[in-house]
Amino acid sequence: MTEGRRSSPGVGPHARTGARGPAVLTASALLVRGDTWIEGGGLCVAGGRVERVLRSPAAVRRAARAAGRPPRDLGEGVLAPGLVDAHAHLELTSLTAALPREPFQAWVGALLRARGGRGAARLERDATRGAARLLAGGTTTVGDVDTTGAGARAAARGPARVVLYREVLDAWQPDRTAPALRGVSRALAARARRVEGISPHASHTASQGLLEGVASLVRRRRLPVTVHWSETPEEVEWLRSGTGAWAALLGPSPHRSGLDLLEAAGLLGPGTSLVHGNCPLRGEPDRLAARGAVLVHCPGTHAFFERAPFPWRRYRRAGVRLALGTDSRASNADLDMRREMALARRAAPWLDPAEVLAMATEQAARALGLGDRVGCLAPGFAADWVLHEADPGAGRASFLEQLTAGATAVRDVAVAGRSVRRRLLDAETRPPMV
Ligand SMILES: [Zn+2]
Repeated sequence: MTEGRRSSPGVGPHARTGARGPAVLTASALLVRGDTWIEGGGLCVAGGRVERVLRSPAAVRRAARAAGRPPRDLGEGVLAPGLVDAHAHLELTSLTAALPREPFQAWVGALLRARGGRGAARLERDATRGAARLLAGGTTTVGDVDTTGAGARAAARGPARVVLYREVLDAWQPDRTAPALRGVSRALAARARRVEGISPHASHTASQGLLEGVASLVRRRRLPVTVHWSETPEEVEWLRSGTGAWAALLGPSPHRSGLDLLEAAGLLGPGTSLVHGNCPLRGEPDRLAARGAVLVHCPGTHAFFERAPFPWRRYRRAGVRLALGTDSRASNADLDMRREMALARRAAPWLDPAEVLAMATEQAARALGLGDRVGCLAPGFAADWVLHEADPGAGRASFLEQLTAGATAVRDVAVAGRSVRRRLLDAETRPPMV
């Protein structure tokens, strides 16, 4: 971030002591969170966090005097919270949706072969590109499921805020369970500062023994968990009855639902996000709501596979916390949370735009275990902000309408108060194709 010039000496307490005060940012309009809109105000930012929200031009002037330096005017546009992508696989960024869509098992097989054919350096480069594309669209935090370790290496170097979930699976084959657990434990030990969560891949590919092993690691280290759940009717069928398209590819069926298995392992709770949830059984939305788990819907992937309509109303009636994610380029045309919001609204036009934005900010942050740190610009939260090209005079409702329709371009993006605009390509800040 470019620092403003220091004002004349002797102005404000920080100037008197010679210390730099917080940076004071202003823009034509500020959206602190979906329901809070301020014109002519700004933010005090210190240590990468929002220290104070300034609600008027007079408050901005007072804060600047106290800080001992002039405010930094970001200019025309709307300053809003950085978007949060609750579910991605960044290392798959070059698998540009060229895989067969169906049957789903063929898509999975093609994905595994394509990923296996890429070396470590290529996967890391792809993960870096994926994070950059997300940032260019205003996504400052991403939950990345890292299968090969490429995501961890890319995250260590990039400017985005990344929650890494180390993926683990055993396909219900007992001889694979212990090696899978040893592998994830080693990854956790080796990268204690970077690997921040675990992803048992899915209910039909992570056995009960594996889930129990993961639960024990999670309890010890208080790690967030994410798991693909109830994505297709075929996986639900195999889990409950051992029949259907997955039967030939997996070990013996547990004859229990995915949610039962997660609950039995102690993994169904606020620290766990469930991804997809396209075909919940009767009563399952209520169980999710009661246990505080967040459900992550991926509208782009949903459209790619031409799934049956997502059960929005069942989840909302039950009071389930809903978040949005991009998933990967192996099943999505872009990595852009503006597009995911637009697709969600297209599928459920009756949703309130403020609720859709919350799914891509505050609720997505909750899904990643960061609900008290990112997702809005309230005091104490990270100064992860986006300056959107939009008419500030049109007001809150109009801005929310445009933003969640994917119709705003990004002018600048900051993570922890530092602009990353110069690291992004101009061409990548265009509005998404929706
Ligand atoms: Zn996924």
